[in-house]
Amino acid sequence: MAEKTLKGLDKKYIWHPFTQMKEWLEYDPLIITHADGNYLYDTEGNRYFDGVASIWCNIHGHRKKEIDDAIREQLEKVAHSTLLGLSNVPAIELAKRLISVAPEGLTRVFYSDNGSTAVEIALKMSFQYWKHVGEEKKEKFVAFTSAYHGDTIGSVSVGGIDLFHGVYAPLLFKVFRADYPYCYRCNDDKSYPSCHLRCLKKLEAILSRHQSEIAALIIEPMLQAASGMVLSPPGLLKEIYKLCKKYRVHFIADEVATGFGRTGMMFACEHEGIEPDFLCLAKGITGGYMPLAATLTTEEVFGAFLGEYSEFKTFFHGHTYTGNPLGCAAAIANIDLLTEDGFFDELHEKIVLLKNCLERFNVHLHVGEVRQIGLVAAIELIKNKATKTPYRLKDRTGFKVAEILRKKGALLRPLGSIIVLMPPLSITKKEIKWLTELIYEAIDEATLS
Ligand code: PLP
Repeated sequence: MAEKTLKGLDKKYIWHPFTQMKEWLEYDPLIITHADGNYLYDTEGNRYFDGVASIWCNIHGHRKKEIDDAIREQLEKVAHSTLLGLSNVPAIELAKRLISVAPEGLTRVFYSDNGSTAVEIALKMSFQYWKHVGEEKKEKFVAFTSAYHGDTIGSVSVGGIDLFHGVYAPLLFKVFRADYPYCYRCNDDKSYPSCHLRCLKKLEAILSRHQSEIAALIIEPMLQAASGMVLSPPGLLKEIYKLCKKYRVHFIADEVATGFGRTGMMFACEHEGIEPDFLCLAKGITGGYMPLAATLTTEEVFGAFLGEYSEFKTFFHGHTYTGNPLGCAAAIANIDLLTEDGFFDELHEKIVLLKNCLERFNVHLHVGEVRQIGLVAAIELIKNKATKTPYRLKDRTGFKVAEILRKKGALLRPLGSIIVLMPPLSITKKEIKWLTELIYEAIDEATLS
């Protein structure tokens, strides 16, 4: 189909996610036709570096032979059959592999097909667990300010980004809200480490006062992603985990964005030795190929749901594509690649290089803070460095930087005025140097001219 026709049809029929469609209809859309390694190609034959890893999920690049082959091989067998009343070979093999790489204590895998459902499942399982063990009042959740856990109503209820979630307030269940630290703009005007993690006080007050009502706490470990790639200071996650243990509250780790090597470890929980009660996985689980998700939990949780059918302790939840064989085959190939000898050694070299390349951004007149964990970086652009005055959302400063980068051959998607760098883990050292240089130029162009 001709390029012009495709653009017209896109504008005529598609409603794009997280997109002001009025703006989209006036815009020249970029239509991807194919990909190779870390690059996407459009209908005009232009090549773009995939700097957002196709929304934080691509790990080994596009058309990775091992994953392509695994899907093709599975396609020769069966594309889909249900896990309701049946099982399938890749779903079984993947469950074993997931448990072998997951933090200690997790023994059971419940599949779904996206990050939001992985979160919903953890919330519902925790809620129902406490009913089964006779703690009927434990029905509430603790979530963090500015959290993002997905777009279904349950995951929006535990989310805390007003711009996205505010309008739905009447539909949502109430949660206890604790402060996720944003050290660059500390609520208490303190700095780490002399603050002694003072921000935990509010959380402890909630837990100690309401422990008999709280089922679980949900957190994005180490990195609050959609709120602007905000990092938790060292030691914080461990302290939160200890509080959950102390007050008998489930710890739900939402690793939809951080799982599968993104932060430099297989899972972000490993940075502080956390053994969560629930681990929510999606995005990178298939290397960024297929819609698949998993919620992992413990034998203790699983055991509480066992009983005679007539006791109705069943977890009455499931999605049509739960445990889809093609997705599971892709995920097995992804884990094979991640667990190859030397994968994490090479990744760590890239992480250090990225850190070095980002250093010069710190002194830029319009950069407030540079944050990095693993192969995720955020460059927070600000209007006034001395006063930390942010750009207004409507200034679209991040968008302008992304537009400049697009013309230079790299795709990035900012979060407001925060430039996010989330490349496939297969980015090369040469590309790290090239891309950071390009971003610096684009920031200069957008903020200084
Ligand atoms: N949880 C976190 C931490 C996320 O970053 C996201 C998506 O960005 C989700 C959940 C929702 O995942 P999905 O978009 O696959 O529903």
